[in-house]
Amino acid sequence: MMLKNLLLTSLLLIAQIPNSEQQFSKLKNQLEKSGFEVIIQLPPKRGAYGLLEVDSKKIWINPVVFDLQIAIQTLIHESVHAAQVCAGKGKIRTLGLKIQPINYARPFFMGYTDVHRQDLEREAYAVQTQPNSFELAMNLLQKHCQSSSSLSS
Ligand SMILES: [Zn+2]
Repeated sequence: MMLKNLLLTSLLLIAQIPNSEQQFSKLKNQLEKSGFEVIIQLPPKRGAYGLLEVDSKKIWINPVVFDLQIAIQTLIHESVHAAQVCAGKGKIRTLGLKIQPINYARPFFMGYTDVHRQDLEREAYAVQTQPNSFELAMNLLQKHCQSSSSLSS
């Protein structure tokens, strides 16, 4: 119950980024160029807004995020995980970012008991909560994921 309230509060704080529809399709394109498949469907894990499956490089975006106006934030979060997958060359590893998430995001990643998972989530929330989160996510994908179009002849 408490977590639910926190979640709602944080959603209100980060909602309403202008041009978010444009940003969403740009970021989705960048993910697809990087070899990820973006599926707008209920994720296989119940209650998740977004989910990335490392082995298949599939990203699920729960359609409810469009109603909640957090679609771009959700995609940014999953893009960080995508960059982590690229950086780990098929596995997932942290990017070693220097930025920290703002305090209200702490309950979300501190809930993970696995420390490795906690670090991965800390990075995703750190990027997601920056004022320039969209640009950061685009840059991370460009930096860590080799574009598949540049590989084709
Ligand atoms: Zn995450």
